[in-house]
Amino acid sequence: MACSVKTCEAAVIGAGPAGLSAALQLAELGVDARVLDEKPAAGGQLFKQIHKFFGSDRHMAGVRGFEIGRRLLARCRELRIPIHLNTAVWGLFPDNTLGATHDRSALTVAARAVIVATGASENALAFPGWTLPGVMGAGAAQTLVNYHRVRPGTRALVVGAGNVGLIVAYQLLQAGIDVAAVVEGMDEVGGYLVHAAKIRRMGVPLLTRRTILRAEGNGCVQRCTIAAVDDAFRPVPGTEQTFDADLVCIAVGLSPAAELCRALGLAMTYVAELGGRVPAHNESLLTSRPGVWVAGDVSGIEEASSAMEEGKLAAISAAAALGRIDAETESRLAGEVNASLAVLRDGPFGELIARRKAELHRRYRQTCSSPVAPTPAVPACSM
Ligand SMILES: Cc1cc2nc3c(=O)[nH]c(=O)nc-3n(C[C@H](O)[C@H](O)[C@H](O)COP(=O)(O)OP(=O)(O)OC[C@H]3O[C@@H](n4cnc5c(N)ncnc54)[C@H](O)[C@@H]3O)c2cc1C
Repeated sequence: MACSVKTCEAAVIGAGPAGLSAALQLAELGVDARVLDEKPAAGGQLFKQIHKFFGSDRHMAGVRGFEIGRRLLARCRELRIPIHLNTAVWGLFPDNTLGATHDRSALTVAARAVIVATGASENALAFPGWTLPGVMGAGAAQTLVNYHRVRPGTRALVVGAGNVGLIVAYQLLQAGIDVAAVVEGMDEVGGYLVHAAKIRRMGVPLLTRRTILRAEGNGCVQRCTIAAVDDAFRPVPGTEQTFDADLVCIAVGLSPAAELCRALGLAMTYVAELGGRVPAHNESLLTSRPGVWVAGDVSGIEEASSAMEEGKLAAISAAAALGRIDAETESRLAGEVNASLAVLRDGPFGELIARRKAELHRRYRQTCSSPVAPTPAVPACSM
């Protein structure tokens, strides 16, 4: 297998909103940065998000997700930031040189600073019939409909009424797919009420304290059965309802895509509200390993606007560690980003995230005493 070597000051893993924002901030501060992503196209989840974003002008409120993706990529082109696609990072050598595969060859990237922005993956739900064709993650249905313009079914049941479940239900309706119901195990809808109101207005029943019992069909899903659940999440006999449906979208939460962080040996910690196991990090998103930062969903599940702010925050800290900005500039720039993050984390859910993040940072100070200085760049192998 051929092996090529690249050297840069900072390598960003993941070309989603967090990674692209990190790379842009690094480049704007004079750091030679490059981005690596395992997918054939950059943008992470942004290009399947056809809805308008919330927030203020700074957060590109009113702009649709795919348009935000286009703007970020246009700016990356302007700043000549290299983006290596089809490039999966699998490890990090002791000197912070990244090991990756690109197409059918090996690539190493020797970087003094590394920002891991690998995003999140969807949680699965096992029930009889869950492997039938037509049962899929809501994110998969969203990719098929919004990105590939393919309808994965004609009548759907959506399981989970968090933001992803509600948004995907609405987008299925927009694509001309009938939505039989959205079922949610909790007493209340977990996503924003504005999204819930939109699908209710379209006549879709939003059924709380219900779960899917089974999906059935001859070679693919044709119908599914739901039931009410008691306080211990056990199905209540006699409450079963069966729907005709050839599509079941599972939207029962996201988990940080932290496999690479674990492979890199970063200290991990469990925070349920952030999606489970996340890499320990401080206010600047520095991990337990010198010269390695995290940003976006991998550091705790939120949404794309906060992922972009976190990307900037990690980049500012990395630029300071690389000696590109002084401590005063770092503190001023980080202050601006933190103020913007505080606006995004307003409201009961956001405040809970902010509290959990603060606890995480406190725990980091108690348990991680690693130095912040990045390591010198040394290629691990040559051509
Ligand atoms: C399936 C799904 C659907 C979502 N739908 C919505 C929605 O409709 N509305 C909404 O507001 N939010 C949605 N979100 C949440 C929102 O998109 C995220 O909060 C946001 O995209 C996080 O940005 P990120 O940059 O951290 O991660 P992502 O946008 O996920 O980007 C991570 C990138 O890292 C790359 N990567 C991962 N591992 C490696 C590796 N080892 N080597 C190289 N590259 C790697 C991936 O290919 C990906 O491009 C969704 C999230 C998911 C996972």
